Amino acid sequence: MIKVNVEKLKKNLENKLKEEESKGAAKDPTKSPILKPFGPGKINFRAIPYLHNEDPTNDPFVERYYHYKFGGTFYCPKENDGQQCALCDYAWQEYNKVKPTGNKDLMKAALDKTAQKHVFVAGVIRGREAEGVKLLKFKTGKRKMSENHEKIWGWFLNKSTENWMDYENGYDMILNYKEPSAGQKKLFNNAPAFLNDIDLDRDRTSLGDKETVKKYFETTPNIDELYEPTDTAKSIEMLEKHFEYLKRSAVSTAAAETASNESSDDSSDLEVSGEELDDQKATMDKLKALLG
Ligand SMILES: [Zn+2]
Repeated sequence: MIKVNVEKLKKNLENKLKEEESKGAAKDPTKSPILKPFGPGKINFRAIPYLHNEDPTNDPFVERYYHYKFGGTFYCPKENDGQQCALCDYAWQEYNKVKPTGNKDLMKAALDKTAQKHVFVAGVIRGREAEGVKLLKFKTGKRKMSENHEKIWGWFLNKSTENWMDYENGYDMILNYKEPSAGQKKLFNNAPAFLNDIDLDRDRTSLGDKETVKKYFETTPNIDELYEPTDTAKSIEMLEKHFEYLKRSAVSTAAAETASNESSDDSSDLEVSGEELDDQKATMDKLKALLG
């Protein structure tokens, strides 16, 4: 007869509950260190220089490259630190493979797997000060700054707004969030709103007294603690995990197709053929050989 190990079972349940709780926290915008809007509309956001930069007064924002299409947010060792990255190699190999077909969707899917560049601006949400310092995150280009990225630097270059980040007499940023259309929902991961554009408030305001502002500075979330830096070895591990996942989902998709003759769910854009899996194995072997 099978005997239940009650102690183990309790521990198991405890872990399950913890996991659920952390998933809930990730969904709750008030608990996220990354700024999340409740819905469409305007948010007043007061930026502060990013404490964890070497010289925040000369370098007030953070830029980082991450991969998002491998089951999480992964720090790219290549774009951030100039080391080799298995995820980049794999993504660009995919891109070069589909490019000759001229299929725009396939090309985009491959490019989405490459490292994406984001800017993070630390600051406080007006009316949500109790949540502490947040990081406003938005996209920018690898070679050319995005429009929003250009704006935040541009304000320093304009005489009338050059001290917009001054905590005593600066300007709030106005973040304009829009509701994604039905077609855009997937693009924004079902978020209730996306950042459409940013601007500066019309009136100068204070962020608070010295003591309050000091506290804000000191509690600025560290982006590298949220998404830990990785190296080449770790990127290979991530890619291996991804291939494992693809293999499993290919098996389950095949099983589901046999059973119902239709795709199990449309959220898995990860259907792979046997041929593709062979390709992936070859990629891994090549990478490992390269690293010795
Ligand atoms: Zn990479």
